Formats: sequence, C-alpha cells, structure tokens
Amino acid sequence: MNQKLPANRAELVFEDFKKPYSEQQARAEANRCLYCYDAPCIQACPTEIDIPTFIRRIANENVEGAAKTIFDSNILGMSCARVCPVETLCVGSCVYNHMDASPIQIGKLQRYATDAAFDAGLSFYEAGEDTGKSVVCIGGGPASLAAAHRLRRFGHKVTIIEKDHYLGGLNTTGIASYKMKADRSLTEVEWLMSIGGIEVRSGISVPDQMSWADLQAEFDAIFVGFGLGEDSLLSLEGADSKGIMGAVDFIAKMKLGMVDLSSVQHAIVIGGGNTALDAVRELKGLGIDNVTLAYRGGEAQMSGYAHEWSEAKREGVSASWRSQPLAFIHNNGKLTGVEFQLMDENKKAIDGQTKTLNADLVLLAIGQGKLGALTSGLTGIEVEKGKIVTDAHGATGAKGVYAGGDCRNGGKEVVNAVAEGDQAAQAMHTFIMGGGSCRT
Ligand SMILES: Cc1cc2nc3c(=O)[nH]c(=O)nc-3n(C[C@H](O)[C@H](O)[C@H](O)COP(=O)(O)OP(=O)(O)OC[C@H]3O[C@@H](n4cnc5c(N)ncnc54)[C@H](O)[C@@H]3O)c2cc1C
Ligand code: SF4
Repeated sequence: MNQKLPANRAELVFEDFKKPYSEQQARAEANRCLYCYDAPCIQACPTEIDIPTFIRRIANENVEGAAKTIFDSNILGMSCARVCPVETLCVGSCVYNHMDASPIQIGKLQRYATDAAFDAGLSFYEAGEDTGKSVVCIGGGPASLAAAHRLRRFGHKVTIIEKDHYLGGLNTTGIASYKMKADRSLTEVEWLMSIGGIEVRSGISVPDQMSWADLQAEFDAIFVGFGLGEDSLLSLEGADSKGIMGAVDFIAKMKLGMVDLSSVQHAIVIGGGNTALDAVRELKGLGIDNVTLAYRGGEAQMSGYAHEWSEAKREGVSASWRSQPLAFIHNNGKLTGVEFQLMDENKKAIDGQTKTLNADLVLLAIGQGKLGALTSGLTGIEVEKGKIVTDAHGATGAKGVYAGGDCRNGGKEVVNAVAEGDQAAQAMHTFIMGGGSCRT
C-alpha cells in the first residue's frame, strides 16, 4: 500500500494551533486534576477513557502507564488527542467549568502521553493466539482500524479492503491541517499495523470490485466501515463553472497533493456546519485575503461549533448570513461570483431580495452523500435515510455483518467511529466464536 505523501503538500504551511506540552507543563496540569469520583469527563468520552487514571499516572511520572490506559480504551488515542472536539466532550464536562476555573486540558495531556509512548517505540499489544477464523473490514478509516486492531488482538486473521491508496480515511484526508496533518495520521496507522497480521487490499471498491457474496464466502464475519460518500452538490445555473468544488474534495486535495490558489482572491464557502468552518479557516491559512462563509440561517442557527467560528472570525473570515445561493455567475465558464437569495429568520426566502458576492473559488460544504445503499446485496440488511441500521452492538440484520462509524451514525467524530468499531469487534468476536450474533 502506497502510504508515501507528496513532499510539497499545501497543508505544510499550517502550524499546530494547540502547542504540545513540555514535561513540566504536563505535570503541572496533571497535578490540578481532582480525580473525581464518577468523573463526568469519562462519561463525556465516547470511548470511555479512564481520564482521571491516566492523568494521575502523568502526575506520578508514569507516562508509559498513562498512554497504556488511553490506548486500552481508544487505539487511535494519538490522533483523537489532536482532533477531538474536547471543548464539547471531556474538557467541556470537567468539573472546573462549574468553579469559574479553567478546565483540565485533557486533550493536551492525552497528546503528551501518547506521543511520548510513540516516541519511545512502545506498541503495547500483540496479536492473540490464532483462532483459525478470518474477518474483513470494509474501508480503512478510524472505525475499521479500531475494529481491525481489536479483532487481531482476539487472534482472528484480519483483512482491510480500502478503495483508496491511503489508510486512515478522513483522519488522513479530511481533518483540518492545523489540528493534524496527513503524515501524523499515516504514522499512527503504521504504529497500529505493527501488531502484525492485518492484510490490506487497497484500490478495491466494495461491492463493485468485490461482491458481498464473495466476501461472505471468504470470511467468517464482515465489518462495514466505509464512512460517507461524496460532497453534495447544487444543481443551480452556472454550477459547472470552473472554480466550484465540494469542500471535502478540496480539503483532501489540499492535504494530499497540491491545490493552486495563486489566482484566488475571493473565496466563498457555502454551509454552516463544521466542514464549512474548517474550510474557511484553511483557506484563510493558505493566504486567501477575502474568505466568506455564506449560510442560509443566522449565526445562532449554524450547526458548526461556536468555538471554531469564533477562531475563524478572529482570523478575519467574514460571514454572509441568511444567504442561499441562487445562481453561480461566470465569464466563459470561469466562476466570478454568486448570486444569493436573502432569507428571513425562519430560513424562508424574502421576496425580491437578493445580493451578489464576488468569488473565484466556491466550496460547497452542504453535506456528504450516504452509502447505505451499497449494502443492498446483503440479505436482511436495513438502511434508513442512507444509514446502516444496527443494534446497540453494531450488528446489522444480515447474519455476521456488523457496521460502525459514519456509515452507521450518519457522520459524527473520529472518537465515535473508534468507539463503534471497537464495540462491533467485540460483538463479532462473540459471534465468530459461537456465542451468537446480537441480532440473529
Ligand atoms: C472535512 C472534515 C473534517 C473533520 N474534522 C474532524 C475533526 O476535527 N475531529 C473529529 O473528531 N472528526 C472530524 N471529522 C469527522 C471524522 O473524520 C469522521 O467522523 C471519521 O473519519 C469517520 O470514520 P469512518 O471510519 O467511519 O469513515 P471514514 O473516515 O470516512 O473512512 C471510510 C473509509 O472507507 C473507504 N471506502 C469508502 N467506500 C468504500 C468502498 N465502497 N469500498 C472500500 N472502501 C471504501 C474510504 O475511502 C475511507 O478510507 C471531519 C470530517 C470531515 C468531512
Ligand atoms: S472532571 Fe476534570 S478534574 Fe474531574 S477527573 Fe475529569 S479532568 Fe480531572
């Protein structure tokens, strides 16, 4: 599998927006933790990392033990330390928030411990004794990686089938570069694969290039972790003009290769979610002077995180609220602007009120397609609004088929994908070893 990245990626201009802790800083922060009983920070973490225990270990200078505590619950703990929206998860629930004091910087402590273990060459886990059973994980993103690692620890033969040429999924191609660059994700993948015995078949799309029937014939159980599909696009006048792209597509191209922004002066990102917020901040960081977020609702109606929007504003991003695209304006097929319909506070069009903004680049961050329909060849599978339906353990209605991550939850965070991949792997193990599937 080709995991080598081009040396001249545009993302290399970004610096980490959260600087790592030194040993002294980490110990001082760890010593502030109150080691709460029934700690709310654990409850807020989808992978239920024992946060007070790992922090106490840092305070006691047992950094290796701290890392092990993290990885026991979350094998992608190194990237989650960088990419988790901690402000709304563990850090947001720290008891210090109710004491008018700054909450414990759990993400930075997690990064300190996991990076130290990685730098010391510690991998902690070994494959279990061979069970003679084999499983396949479809997709090479966080959900499948977490499932694959856990299944290998149980002793099953594991194969990952990935349609692209990089592993890591959106952790490699989607995460904003100021949180984590693609090479860090690939380094983590290598570290995780060092458990040995995980076969990777890349460049294969399921079910087009390998059918469900073939997979069921070859493997004892299947984990589906193929995430979400392509960016949703708009079918408006001028939508095929040069200079209009899906935001996720743009971010992947920027992270993995080169994007040429030399002629771009005015960029507009359409959408109000987290992908739109990442995209505006990335464009600004890449040196575009005029970056505007255009959203059909008002500031308070955006679904993107408020802390990300306040950073974007601080960096100089402008907003065009209550603006819904009507048409893309172009000159001989090259984008020059966007005409917007103005909306009221209920997101209803206001008759006759429009405005036009200049743009030579437009990124559409209005959602991604759902891939549940790809599983239609599996007897018993249920798909609802494009999402694969499972029980609480990740079992689908098709015998021996499990699912987790964005394809099951509709698009959440890396930590949710890891939690669901791990949880499904445990249910798959029970099923394969004769304990029965949770749904069949
Ligand atoms: C722009 C953007 C920024 C984000 N930022 C953050 C963030 O800062 N923090 C955070 O926690 N989360 C973030 N997320 C969400 C996070 O990346 C996802 O929730 C997470 O990656 C989901 O993991 P997954 O394994 O379910 O899917 P993915 O990461 O999408 O991985 C799925 C894999 O399956 C492969 N695949 C797809 N179809 C097939 C097929 N038919 N056959 C074989 N392989 C296939 C894909 O190529 C991909 O490698 C972001 C998402 C986006 C779009
Ligand atoms: S809630 Fe805060 S203080 Fe309490 S254990 Fe968690 S990190 Fe420590």
